[in-house]
Amino acid sequence: MDQQNTGKEKGRLFKIGTGWLYLILILALLLPSILDYSSTNQITWKDFEQKMLSRHAVDKVVVVNNEIAKVYIKPEFANDPAFKDVMKNPMGKGINPGPHFQFTIGSIESFERKLDEAQEHFSENDKINISYAKSSNWTTTLLPWLIPIFLMVIFFRFFLNGSTGGSSVLNFGRSTAQLLDKSDKSSVTFEDVAGLEEAKQEVKEIVDFLKNPVRYTKLGAKIPKGVIIVGPTGTGKTLLAKAVAGEAQVPFFSLSGSEFVEMFVGVGASRVRDLFKRAKEKAPSIIFIDEIDAVGRSRGKNTFYTGANDERESTLNQLLTEMDGFGTNSGVIVLAATNRGDMLDHALLRPGRFDRHIYLDLPNYNERKAIFRVHLKVLILAESVSADFLASQTPGFSGADIANICNEAALIAARNRKDKVERQDFMDALDRIVAGLEKKSKILSAKEKKTIAYHEAGHAVASWFLKNADPLVKVSIIPRGKSLGSAWYLPEERQLKTLTELEEHIFVALAGRAAEELTFGEISSGALDDLERVTKDAYAMAMYYGFNKKIGNVSFYDSGGREAFQKPYSEETAKLIDEEVRKFVETSYINTKNLLVHHQHELTKIAELLLQREVIFKEDLEKILGERIEEISETNTMEVANNNM
Ligand code: ADP
Ligand code: ZN
Repeated sequence: MDQQNTGKEKGRLFKIGTGWLYLILILALLLPSILDYSSTNQITWKDFEQKMLSRHAVDKVVVVNNEIAKVYIKPEFANDPAFKDVMKNPMGKGINPGPHFQFTIGSIESFERKLDEAQEHFSENDKINISYAKSSNWTTTLLPWLIPIFLMVIFFRFFLNGSTGGSSVLNFGRSTAQLLDKSDKSSVTFEDVAGLEEAKQEVKEIVDFLKNPVRYTKLGAKIPKGVIIVGPTGTGKTLLAKAVAGEAQVPFFSLSGSEFVEMFVGVGASRVRDLFKRAKEKAPSIIFIDEIDAVGRSRGKNTFYTGANDERESTLNQLLTEMDGFGTNSGVIVLAATNRGDMLDHALLRPGRFDRHIYLDLPNYNERKAIFRVHLKVLILAESVSADFLASQTPGFSGADIANICNEAALIAARNRKDKVERQDFMDALDRIVAGLEKKSKILSAKEKKTIAYHEAGHAVASWFLKNADPLVKVSIIPRGKSLGSAWYLPEERQLKTLTELEEHIFVALAGRAAEELTFGEISSGALDDLERVTKDAYAMAMYYGFNKKIGNVSFYDSGGREAFQKPYSEETAKLIDEEVRKFVETSYINTKNLLVHHQHELTKIAELLLQREVIFKEDLEKILGERIEEISETNTMEVANNNM
C-alpha cells in the first residue's frame, strides 16, 4: 500500500505544477480586457450628461458592440480641471487620444432616445457624433467559450485524480482490486501463518502450480482455477491467501465481494470483467475475493427482501462466465474466502470453478500457542510471559484476536512506561478484549450492586457444587461493555456433551435468578442473557439431541439450513415441544433453588466478598466453599465461556 501513497504524492506535486500553469494562462487571457477595462474611466449616464454633454465637451461617442459607449473629449478641454487627469497621455507627450470615458448603455434605442432628449436644444453643430463599432477583441469573444471548457477540464481532472486509488465517479466499472505486486517486500510467507497445517499442505500444491506450471501442463494436468477458504472471521483466510502469493512470488489482486455489489446496475459485472483482465495481463497471478458470499449467495434465496438481488446475480453470472472462460492454464488462480460456506450458490462450487475447498477452524490450544509465538516474536517480553500460558487463557480466540491481544498488551505496557511487556499487561489486554472496556464510569446504585453480587454469587455456588458444570475461575461485578457482572468458566473442549452436563449447565445459568429470588424475594431483569441461553439450550436438547423422553429420539436439526419457512413437525409436536421445554426449565429452576437453599450461608459470604472486592478468584471461592469436588482435568485444550450476568 506504500506504493500507492507515493504514487499519490507524485500526483499531487504534478497537479500543483499544472495548476500554476493554468493560472498563468487565465491571467494572460484576461489581461488585455482587464487593462482595457481599467484604463478607461467608468462613468454613468448622469455624469456623461451633466458633466460632459451639457458643457459641449464631448467630441464623439463610439458605441462598441452595442453595449459600451466610449466617450472622446474635445482636445481643447485638455486643461480643464475636470478632464485634466484623463487627457494626460500616459505615454508622456501630447494629449491622450481617448477614449477617455466609457459607460454601459442599456440598449441602442434607449441610449439614442436619451441622447436626443439631452441634445434637444443643441444646435445642429453642437450635436455629437455617434458611431458604432464592433470590437474584435478576441478575449471577449472567446472567453464565453473558453470558461466552460476550462471548467469542464478541471472537473474531469478532479474526478480522475480523486479516483486513482479507490472507487470513483468515472471509474465505476473498473475493479477496485488492490494489487500487491511481487516487488512488495512485505510479502507474507507460510512462516507467518501458524497452525493451519492441513490448510497449508493443501495450498502448497497451488504454490507449486504457480511456480512451475509447465511441470503440470506437460503431463496434461489441469491447474485448479478456484479455491474457496471457509472459516470464521479472523482465522487467517486472507493471511493464507497472501502467503500463497508470497510463496509463489506472483502478483496478488485482493478485493472484497461487497465491492462488486454497488448500487449502480451493471457495475459489479464490469468490475469482475476488469479484474480478470488485469489479472490475466499479469499472469501467473492470484485473485483473492474476500466475503465471496456477498456475490455468491445462493440465488433465489431471500429474494424478496434484498433489493440488490438482480445486480448481485448479474455480478455472479459474470464471475462464473469469467471463470469458465479463462483457460485452465492461463495461470490465474482465484482464491475466495467466506465465513458462510453453507450460503454459497452451488453453481460456484461446480468443477472448473471453485472446486477446491479448504476449511479453517478456530485454533485449538497447540495452534493458539503457535500463533502466539508468531505474534510475540516482534515484542520485547518479560520472562514471565509464555506462549503456553497465554494459549491456555485464550480458548475460543481466533488468530486475529490473538494478534489483537499481543498488540494491546504492548500498548498497555508502553502506556505504563515499561521497557518490557509483562504478564499482567497481557492479562489486562485479555480482560479488555474478552468483555469490552471496563466501564468504571458506569454508576450503579448500592441496591443494584447488591443484586448483581448475589446474582453472580448464585452462579458461582451452583457451578461449584455441580460436578459436571464448568469450573469457575473468576467472578466480577465490574460492569464491562453491556454486561453488569460476569463469571468466567474454564470448560473443557469437548465434542460431546452428556445429558447431565447440559442439564447442569442450565442449572448454573438459572442460579443467578434463583439467588436473587432467595435473597430478596424479588427477581430482576439481569437474568436476560442467562434465560436466553437456557431457552436455546433447552430447545436444542428437546429438538436436536433427542434428550426429551416424550418427544423421543428425533432431531429436527436442519444441517442444510433450507427449511427456514416451514416446520418439519406437526402442530401437536410443536405444542409438545413447548410444553416439555417449559416443564424442563421449571424443574431445573426448582432444583437450582434447592441447591442454593442448601448453601445459602456460603452464597451470602461470597456475595459480601464480591461487594467488598468487586473481583474474586477461584482461590477466594475455595476458602469459602472448600475444595471443588471435581478435579479440573489437565487436558490443555480448554475453552473459556464468559457467562455474563
Ligand atoms: P480472515 O480473513 O479469516 O478474517 P485474516 O487473515 O484477515 O482473517 O486475519 C487477521 C489477522 O489475524 C492476520 O493479519 C494475522 O495477524 C492474524 N492471524 C489470523 N490467523 C493467523 C494464523 N493462523 N497465524 C498467525 N496470525 C494469524
Ligand atoms: Zn447471570
